[in-house]
Amino acid sequence: MQFAELVAEYERLEATSKRLEMRQILVDLLRKVSAKELPALVYMMQGELRPEFEGVELGVADSLAARAVAQATGAPEKSVAESLRTTGDLGTTAGQLLPKRAARLDADPLRVHEVYEAFGRIATASGAGSQELKVRTLVELLARSTPSEAKYLVRFALGKLRLGVREMSIVDALSFAFADGSKEARAAVEAAYNRSSDLGLVAEHVAKDGVPGVNKIPIRVGRPIRPMLAERSPDLADALRRMEGKAALEYKYDGLRVQAHVPEQGPVQLFSRRLESISTQFPELVKELPAAVHRRPAIVEGECVPVDPETGELRPFQEVSRRRGRKYDLERMQEEVPVRLFLFDVLLDHGTPTVDEPFPTRRRLLESAVHGTERVHLATQKVVDSEADAEAFFEEAIAAGCEGVMVKSLAAGSTYRAGARGYWWIKYKREYTHALADSVDGVVVGAFYGHGRRGGRYGALLLAVYNPDEDRFESFCKVGSGFDDATLETLPAKFKPFEVPEKPESVLTELVPDVWLRPAVVMEVRGAELTLSPIHRAGVGKIRPDAGLALRFPRFTGRWRDDKDAETATTTAELISLYRSQVRQISSANAGEESA
Ligand code: ATP
Repeated sequence: MQFAELVAEYERLEATSKRLEMRQILVDLLRKVSAKELPALVYMMQGELRPEFEGVELGVADSLAARAVAQATGAPEKSVAESLRTTGDLGTTAGQLLPKRAARLDADPLRVHEVYEAFGRIATASGAGSQELKVRTLVELLARSTPSEAKYLVRFALGKLRLGVREMSIVDALSFAFADGSKEARAAVEAAYNRSSDLGLVAEHVAKDGVPGVNKIPIRVGRPIRPMLAERSPDLADALRRMEGKAALEYKYDGLRVQAHVPEQGPVQLFSRRLESISTQFPELVKELPAAVHRRPAIVEGECVPVDPETGELRPFQEVSRRRGRKYDLERMQEEVPVRLFLFDVLLDHGTPTVDEPFPTRRRLLESAVHGTERVHLATQKVVDSEADAEAFFEEAIAAGCEGVMVKSLAAGSTYRAGARGYWWIKYKREYTHALADSVDGVVVGAFYGHGRRGGRYGALLLAVYNPDEDRFESFCKVGSGFDDATLETLPAKFKPFEVPEKPESVLTELVPDVWLRPAVVMEVRGAELTLSPIHRAGVGKIRPDAGLALRFPRFTGRWRDDKDAETATTTAELISLYRSQVRQISSANAGEESA
């Protein structure tokens, strides 16, 4: 396929916010591309070269791309910088400057696979001369491109493609393009994605053999499985009722979720909740896991928690986040912030997938596969069938330094639901005794300049929850408290890469911040209560027409949720259910007062 054809579709995708239209564009595109180019097209649609968990980065810095634009267009670097100041987007700048060159007109048209391969060379270039090679490769592409092609080439190189096509829209389109688009077909494609986390692979299989093709994609060591997620309950009695009176309760450790892939031989790989590779950050776990997990190959899941090196007691979560994203001082950090991994599930046991087994079977397999070591342990668990026992276990968990308990179903249907949130797991935290049952993980979509003491810096951020049905971000609060001075200082730089000139298509709000931000960064906030609001748009119309939900007195907890991306933030549905549980609690408190 010619790259120009793909770019024409990119432009159509950017111009629409209608889901059905977007799906049709995607379906046509997927059908049009050759089998050879299909995976590349799917990755490139998401602004990637490979599935995200492989961590392949293009590594093209702004300055490098600007140099390539100058060389390819023949414009002096100064003019590129000037144009960039007005457009705010180097892709647009490249498009604008390019027509000034005439020679390009008879150039050989670019093809999708050529572009993909060229970016592959850019991504793998390293060592001496690699910067020059990156610039040269980009110049060669730009020299053969039209202004529109140049715009997207540059955006892609900088990791700023942002077509607004989310992974679930691609899943949807694949089921229409290569199967009958029925609910069953979509479920099969989604399930294959949930167990492989690789949309290019899924595309290749569904294109070749339809639904039977994707059903054959196996769970494999090295390919992370999308995590199963928990619902909330207002209290333990409610949680137990949902489990028909009997459930397994586990300590809810407050740390980082880790999916460990332990091959028969060779290095262990660790993935975060977002499925990024984090192996290099926890070398001691990588080393110790083969000694702890006996039936290999295996995939196990657990929570990585900081511990006191002297006493072995659990430490606050924030400490382990100091080890995230680190490239240096890894040895020193192992000693400064020692961790333990508490395993709570097994997804592959001795090479056999266990995700379709009910939870009691998985726990039994986990217990026989794992022999505790210094750093690797099993999550503490107890099966309970009374509220009193559940409360006692909860108190024990809190006393041990955990944030609450996970209540897990023992039913025959309690399989591992990759990528899904449901009542098979219920989280119940200590804070649920506060006015508002839980904290909310909001996506930052805008920033407001501060006044007075905060002049020149950001004074507040506009937060949204994610609505997967509409694929949009709906505002629910403006948060200005809970930031210390040091954090405030860093906000403009932290958000700089996400600045966009106007409100992103996917954001729904009545507020207009000073700076719009592409939904990407997730932060945890807590508030007094959820109320109905004419300004905020979270769940608008779901409770009352024209009113959305707003969080009163929001406060930053100090926790950036780097382990979450925009689409894994709190959802609109979760916010509505928090609102409803709050209404229920208030009405039962009122009922109590009345009867007293
Ligand atoms: P969610 O993962 O539900 O989107 P979240 O990331 O904010 O939300 P929590 O609300 O704290 O996380 O609850 C779920 C998380 O609890 C799991 O993703 C996992 O990291 C952690 N966890 C700790 N102990 C356990 C356990 N025993 N079983 C399952 N998960 C546990």
